[in-house]
Order: sequence, then C-alpha cells, then structure tokens
Amino acid sequence: MQKFSYHTHTVFSDGDNLLEEMLAQAVKLGWEAIGISDHMIIHKDVKSTNYYQKVCRENRPHMAFADFKEAEGFFIRNTEFIRKTAKKYPLKVYIGFEVDYFTYNGWEEEFKNFIGRIDHDYLVSGNHFFLNETGGFIGDISDYKNKEDSDKLGNVDDYIHIHFNTIKKAVQSGLFNFLAHLDYVRKVKAYESDKFKKDCLAVVEALKNSGMGCELSTKGLRKTGDYYPQNNILQALVKEQVPLVISDDAHKTSELGYAFDKAENVLKELGCNSRFVLK
Ligand SMILES: [Zn+2]
Ligand SMILES: [Zn+2]
Repeated sequence: MQKFSYHTHTVFSDGDNLLEEMLAQAVKLGWEAIGISDHMIIHKDVKSTNYYQKVCRENRPHMAFADFKEAEGFFIRNTEFIRKTAKKYPLKVYIGFEVDYFTYNGWEEEFKNFIGRIDHDYLVSGNHFFLNETGGFIGDISDYKNKEDSDKLGNVDDYIHIHFNTIKKAVQSGLFNFLAHLDYVRKVKAYESDKFKKDCLAVVEALKNSGMGCELSTKGLRKTGDYYPQNNILQALVKEQVPLVISDDAHKTSELGYAFDKAENVLKELGCNSRFVLK
C-alpha cells in the first residue's frame, strides 16, 4: 500500500493542525515520506473579492495574496521552518505547494519568476475558483454548491467550461508535477457528469501529453461520496497510462491516509500499472 501522501495541508493555509502534528502522525502511520502542499493563491484582484473577506473573517488572510512580492516573505519563512522541523522526524519530508493557476495576462511569467525564489520540491495544480474568460476572479467554487447560489452566476455551465480550460492550460504549462482533484467542480450541484465528460477527457488527453501525474483523491469520498475523479475518468487515465498517486488532501491528522486501502483496491481492479512517485 502507498505509504505517503503528497497532498496535505497545515495551518500555513487552511489545515487544522500544525506541521509538527502532521509529521508526527505520518511517522505513527509508518509512512516513509510526506509532502506538505499548502495553498499558494496569488491573484492581482483577490483582495476585492468575497473570498478574501471570508478568509479574513476566519483569521486566515495568508490564504491569498494580491502580489508576488507580498507573498514572498511568507513563503520563504514557512519553507525555512519546514526544512528545519523536518530534521526532527524519521521520514522524508517534501515541500510542495497546491497552486491555483490563473490565466490573466502576465500571471504565468510572474509566477515563474516568483517560484524560482521559493525553496520547494514539487508543485501540485489545484484549481478552486471560477474565473471569467480573461482570468478575472469570479469566486470560490465552494460558494456555488447550492443551486440557488450557482443560479446567481447566470450560466454556470459557461464557468464550468472555463474552469476545465484553465485546468488544461495549467497542465500544458509544464509547471506542475501532478494534478489534484480533476473534477472538483462536481461539488457544484448544477454539475452534470455527462455534460462535461468531454471537458474531463480533454484534461486527460493533456495529462497524457504532459508527463505529469494525476491524483486519485479520497477527499472526494469524504465530500461527495465518490473519488476525484469519478470512475469513468479514472478509467480513461489508467488507459492512457497517466501516472497516478493516491491523495488524502488531509486538512487534519485524522485524514492522513484516509481510505488508502480502498483506493489501492480501485487501482488494482482497473489494472493501473503506472504510479507517480517523487524522486
Ligand atoms: Zn484543492
Ligand atoms: Zn488540497
């Protein structure tokens, strides 16, 4: 069974536990490694959004930054702390970030310069927001779960298409090691799997051509009763031999390794023989 997770969160972003608590739990589970992948959300307009107001109310203003300079000090301090703390635990600790990829002019270039100055081992592509066609910030996908909220957007299908396009562009950017929760947008009630199958398969195709990995996330089981991605998309990933990694997307110690045994069985049943591992 897979004895590591590369998709975990601590109090540096929206996790409930300290880094030390997550590392201690990983040791307790007998893991050989863990990757800490707190959120990295940097968008020029984020401070004028409801999302930013929400995270400030929750005392987590460090969830999002409006400029790269401002973010730099925060991330440098945290990575130094992770490297130092990791030495106290008998397991390999990787530093990663779960990055929201944004599509407005200039973001990618700024991001590339920025990430070059931050000590890290890998990057996860995880997209959590609806954007408009030019990459403008619309809102947190979690805030449109109910039908009446998504109705306020007008045509939610258009935003879902843009969302999948953003994921595809992130994959094609070559910036990332693996993709998180491919069909995370499924949590929006108005989402219909059949309608967006083509969009999902376009992401699978992009993954196949990118050399990137993709996660099978047990967070989907906790949140929607099925894995991210759901089975027909997972089948396509296996068929195209996209390297897969099981993730818990743990936001607290009790979620580390959640349902990994079940996920292993799913991969076995599908005949998956290509797994993603950090080297
Ligand atoms: Zn995520
Ligand atoms: Zn996550």
